[in-house]
Amino acid sequence: MGAAVRTSDGSIRPGAVVENVSLGLAMCAERIALFASIAADDARPTAVALVAPRTDGVLTYPCGACLQVALELGGPEMIVFAGDADGDAVESATVGELLPKGPKKN
Ligand SMILES: [Zn+2]
Repeated sequence: MGAAVRTSDGSIRPGAVVENVSLGLAMCAERIALFASIAADDARPTAVALVAPRTDGVLTYPCGACLQVALELGGPEMIVFAGDADGDAVESATVGELLPKGPKKN
């Protein structure tokens, strides 16, 4: 799986899933890309794209943890693109649509 984040200033930060023998220590490609953007002191993330094998025949979207991070860093209008590894299909939705009742910062 691979991901990339685009920011409001046009920066693009890539991410790749990092697996670990201890599953709890693995990290999704989307969060790696989001955190790389923060580490680089980029502007606000505006979109995240995930390219991954399909799950049960449908495009794979970011997990709940990644959506929560995206909500906090980019807000509910941040666009999420999901594409398959063949490049045959791409769908999009906002973080707010995918995580409509996600936790908000106070
Ligand atoms: Zn995730």
